[in-house]
Amino acid sequence: MYLPACAIAAAAVVLVAVGWAMGWGDDFAGSVTLLRAVAAGPATLAIIGVFLVVERVRPAQRRSLLARGHRHDVLFTVLNATLIVPLVTALTLAFVAVARTAFPWIVLPRMGLLPRWAAIAAIFVAMDGCNWFVHLAVHRVRTLWRFHELHHSQEDLSVLTVFRTHPLIHVPYLLALIPGVVLLANGELSVTLLVVYGAIVAFAHSNTNLGFGPLERVFVSPNYHRVHHKLDGPQDVNLGFALTIWDQLARTAVFPTEETIRTDTGLLGRPLIVEQAATRAHHLSVFAAQLVAPFRPMNELTDAPPVRAAASPGTE
Ligand SMILES: [Zn+2]
Ligand SMILES: [Zn+2]
Repeated sequence: MYLPACAIAAAAVVLVAVGWAMGWGDDFAGSVTLLRAVAAGPATLAIIGVFLVVERVRPAQRRSLLARGHRHDVLFTVLNATLIVPLVTALTLAFVAVARTAFPWIVLPRMGLLPRWAAIAAIFVAMDGCNWFVHLAVHRVRTLWRFHELHHSQEDLSVLTVFRTHPLIHVPYLLALIPGVVLLANGELSVTLLVVYGAIVAFAHSNTNLGFGPLERVFVSPNYHRVHHKLDGPQDVNLGFALTIWDQLARTAVFPTEETIRTDTGLLGRPLIVEQAATRAHHLSVFAAQLVAPFRPMNELTDAPPVRAAASPGTE
């Protein structure tokens, strides 16, 4: 048993318990409905449907629509649309309630001169910056990597890989809620904006050979994000969710080339069990094994995240 992973699970349990004891600070059922609309509402499903077609028209790698990895990520999609939505709602409401109670001074008052759209744009950009930072941490901190390696284990990248995440990876990403809490009185991200954000992140995972040309200096494209999943590459590069500016500032941006746009993805040596490994896919048992995998004993040699050789504190 790997105890540091249990600490993440314990933190989630404590946070949910505190949120429940505080009455969530908001309407729980209503928030579940809103988040479900973002994760699996009609607009999201329609957008995913369009991306599934785009993948067939301009694939980065030619493979069957029913490839093992695609079938397997459907399981994660169903898990997200059902159990993850209430879990993330509980974590989100609890985190916001605790932050507002413990640190009331982080909530800025209403600023009369700041237009609402500017506050919303600031939340959007700052949230993306926080997601970038947490993404760097989940690649560099061993305990957090245990919950992120599942996402990187996908060898058949597709738009549904956006859902291939461990439920507890949402714990460190709660930090990305802070900009929204700080600017709460000045503006709030709408369901529409969150759907747009989710669509950008989902499209980045699609098996599509598509770069954004000069726009890639700002937005993450499928070709750009594929470099992040490169099988034999360091994977602590191209960490951006929607914007590439953070990678450029931190010098972790690697822009796609002819060589990277069709590159294989996954984890070298398959440290985590994957559906592609055996002669048959065994989807359900592999799915269950992947969910308990963060708690397996640490193998110092094979379980390390693939990071840049030169990447050590102080060399950046
Ligand atoms: Zn990653
Ligand atoms: Zn990814």
